Amino acid sequence: MKKLTGVPASAGKAIGKAYVYESEILPEIKRYTILKDQLEAELKRLEAAYDKAEKELQSIHKKALGEAAGQADIFAAHIMMIQDPEIMDQVKTEIKQTLENAEFVVRKIYGKLAQTMEASGDPMFSERVADINEISGHLLRQLLHVQKKTLKIPDTDVIAAADDLSPSEILAMNKNHVKGLVLRTGGRTSHIAILARTFNIPAVMGLASSFDEIMDGSELAIDGDSGAVYIDPGKDELEKFRNSVFHNSSAEISVKSAGLPAETKDGRGVLLKANIEFPEEAGAACGYGAMGIGLYRSEFLFLGSGKAADEEQQYAAYSSVLKTMGKLPVTIRTVDIGGDKLLPEFDSGDEKNPLLGWRAIRFSLSRPQIFKIQLRALLRAGVNGNARIMFPLITGIEELEKALALLEEAKSECKKLRQPIAEKIETGIMIEVPSAAITADLLAEKSDFFSIGTNDLIQYTLAVDRGNEKVDYLAQPLHPAILRSIKMTIEAAGKKGIKTSMCGEMAGDPKLTAVLIGLGLDELSMTAPSIPLVKKIMRELTSAECEDLAGELLAGKSAAANSALLQTWTNKRLKSVPELAQ
Ligand code: PEP
Ligand code: MG
Repeated sequence: MKKLTGVPASAGKAIGKAYVYESEILPEIKRYTILKDQLEAELKRLEAAYDKAEKELQSIHKKALGEAAGQADIFAAHIMMIQDPEIMDQVKTEIKQTLENAEFVVRKIYGKLAQTMEASGDPMFSERVADINEISGHLLRQLLHVQKKTLKIPDTDVIAAADDLSPSEILAMNKNHVKGLVLRTGGRTSHIAILARTFNIPAVMGLASSFDEIMDGSELAIDGDSGAVYIDPGKDELEKFRNSVFHNSSAEISVKSAGLPAETKDGRGVLLKANIEFPEEAGAACGYGAMGIGLYRSEFLFLGSGKAADEEQQYAAYSSVLKTMGKLPVTIRTVDIGGDKLLPEFDSGDEKNPLLGWRAIRFSLSRPQIFKIQLRALLRAGVNGNARIMFPLITGIEELEKALALLEEAKSECKKLRQPIAEKIETGIMIEVPSAAITADLLAEKSDFFSIGTNDLIQYTLAVDRGNEKVDYLAQPLHPAILRSIKMTIEAAGKKGIKTSMCGEMAGDPKLTAVLIGLGLDELSMTAPSIPLVKKIMRELTSAECEDLAGELLAGKSAAANSALLQTWTNKRLKSVPELAQ
């Protein structure tokens, strides 16, 4: 048996055979000239590739109809595009005129087409770029005889193992048989980790070079709580591991606590809400006792289909969450595309530092048409419940003012069409960059609420790429700079009479519950399964002792000193909570 240790990214334990997935790399496409008498054969080779690629697309479409009917249109459109006689003629004519090989010409013609669409600036056309790339990919694979690699999980339970996965890939994979996930890359707050938690898939990430020890088919036992991965465990170890798999106290706590108030012993209430990525999660969130949705990451609507969702699709998704939640508040964040959540049609691939680049509100403000589609959908869906709009990655007041001005435009557009809208919808911002925390007093003037996104706040304050396991150890929630930023934000909000929520992963960490209450947060929003334990801990505490603890930590000199202090406090004060035992 071999034991590897990675980043514990999604809680739970799993046993199964490794299914190693390697990302596809197409071989280099060489240009060569064919002889005139080879022309006919080359054209036949091209036609055969078109035929096979079309068949491949037909079978994908059929599968989509069975498994995800809502997404099947995308594949139907691919079939129509590959059948487009004009493009096929262009490719043939180019081969005839230049006598260049088919794969080189396919890449050239489809590449030009994608560039023209991209450059048009019309969102309708630029939406098609991803489709064109998809089609040329199918053709090239046929011409180069490369099998398309898919995350086609076998019909038996497996632990999926990969260097890296994109959010779209985890969305696309058949999760019924994925009992666990191990990745070479990725930190605890990477989006892939958040999604693994959403889908309740135990995961260990950031295994770095030790990942090479995992072979396709190896027997694995993974522990998403400690970050341990056992390769080929012996009979005894497996038995021990199996026995511990079935000990899951959070399900028990959940049933008992869903109806209990989320308050401290002395009656201080802190709203506990859920973070969701998909509308379907809202129902389950209520089951865990969520008192609203504190963060709906709307970009997953785009990432699921690989392109911007239209107004009606967005309206339907937001309305569905609002209706499920009834009177409870639902905070919908406008799309946070970019960074590590790339959408092929908007990924020009030329950003050296995507995390410091064109993402979130920057993307939305630079594409006002796409942004206004979202704002109109939000305003219209707002009549179906208690909606709030939240803007991500605000760095200063100008961005907020521009976003609010576009919201006003969106309102007028709806009114012109006599569409009913939620006129007085609350608008707030995420505090997730140091400049926002530092100028929280200015931003509070124009915000109805704040929500602290600690995943990014830690990333940008401590200069730690949240997806890079090499520096994961530096992502320290108890670093004095993080605690001070949180405190500063809450105080600035308090002076203007607005509330502060926290929706980063810190909010759901039960080890930090006392600290967060003590710092004065009004709301904590987390993946729904974390709510019961956080509530249980909250109900053990008094607000005075939490404030004392937070005061001591705020005076702390380093993350390490603060961790030690918190551990000692927890051992003494919360020894009755087995989940916190070290
Ligand atoms: C955050 O940054 O803390 C946050 C909640 O947003 P996301 O994780 O989607 O970047
Ligand atoms: Mg963020």
